Amino acid sequence: MGRGDGYSEIKKVMDQKTHYCPEHNTALIRKRILYGYPDPSADHSKVILGGCCVSDDSPKHGFECPVDHKAFIVNSKGEVEPIFDDDEETDNGL
Ligand SMILES: [Zn+2]
Repeated sequence: MGRGDGYSEIKKVMDQKTHYCPEHNTALIRKRILYGYPDPSADHSKVILGGCCVSDDSPKHGFECPVDHKAFIVNSKGEVEPIFDDDEETDNGL
């Protein structure tokens, strides 16, 4: 008897928090990240293409800026950071 007594359903409200683009300050759109080679016939407008490199801590979901469609992830500290580092560091070497 007493089934379900004391069962508390904690909804992941934190996950639904709105994140904002650090550049444009617009609300980012939450999207699933698709890894590997995408199916060319599939609709990729609802997903973020994460590339073919997937690791154990690759995020399952990312966020896309509606202004320039740049993809972001939210790190463990809750900070928004670009998913791809396309600003390649200048080689100051020679
Ligand atoms: Zn933006």
